[in-house]
Amino acid sequence: MIRRPEFVRYLNDRLFDEPLLIEQMGSNSNLSLMIQVFPFSENRRLLLAQDVTDLRKAEAMRRDFVANVSHEMRTPLTVMTGFLEAVQTLDLEPAKKEEYLELMMVQGKRMKSLVEDLLTLANLEANTQPAPQSKVSMQTILAMLKNEAEALSHGRHVISIEGDANYSLLGDERELISAFSNLVSNAVRYTPDGGNIQIAWSATPKNDAEFSVRDSGPGIPSEHLPRLTERFYRVDRSRSRETGGTGLGLAIIVKHVATRHQAQLLIESAPGEGSRFAIEFPSARVVSI
Ligand code: ADP
Repeated sequence: MIRRPEFVRYLNDRLFDEPLLIEQMGSNSNLSLMIQVFPFSENRRLLLAQDVTDLRKAEAMRRDFVANVSHEMRTPLTVMTGFLEAVQTLDLEPAKKEEYLELMMVQGKRMKSLVEDLLTLANLEANTQPAPQSKVSMQTILAMLKNEAEALSHGRHVISIEGDANYSLLGDERELISAFSNLVSNAVRYTPDGGNIQIAWSATPKNDAEFSVRDSGPGIPSEHLPRLTERFYRVDRSRSRETGGTGLGLAIIVKHVATRHQAQLLIESAPGEGSRFAIEFPSARVVSI
């Protein structure tokens, strides 16, 4: 520390009312220290050094999050106000006006789904208890997911479901449905027309159980895989926006629904080979119906 010029200056200036923050301490560490000197006894000084690395990280995450949310909101708002201005000031043909209103509606829906995802995330974050042990029928959920996938796909994909519906899960039904349908809707949204989507559930009461969604879509380059579960992370921003994505789906599933059910998200994907997203549950959460 004595080699750091800012520390030497702090000592020499003798203005000890304010603490001094020293970042990136050590040769290859990212340690942040908060230093403050306090007068002590007659002619002595007490130097207090506090490791604030985690605090600084949390602050940086909060800043990034606020910046991301603002950015995500600003784009649809800019588009909407632009069209509103046009409708207000220009003498538009009815057809043109209709087109503008339709475009505004799309942006309004984008903002709505963003706010809804943020609220879901906030609700889940407030709830740190493990998920309840209520029995959730996988038979019902699988049938529902198939309907949902078909409605989203409009016949553009071949969708199949396989799995032993004799085994069910113990957990929070609403949360599980939201996690599973996130994976299904991603597969439908990112797989080009004519592709295959396989939804599978495999379980035995003694072993871990697994819900998985495999698609024949574009696949994801390996460098993106570890970051997919970060909030707002997208491999291809414009593609995600186009398909109505917020970049929050996987963050919500992994960080919360999976953790609350002691489950793990496994992602296998390679460019040109499609993707497979699976949620693996411990045997303690599996029961026969
Ligand atoms: P989004 O709302 O953007 O879909 P997600 O958190 O659900 O956000 O997913 C994060 C990113 O992971 C997506 O933007 C997309 O780039 C990528 N992704 C997710 N699922 C798939 C998939 N089945 N095939 C290809 N890419 C995917």
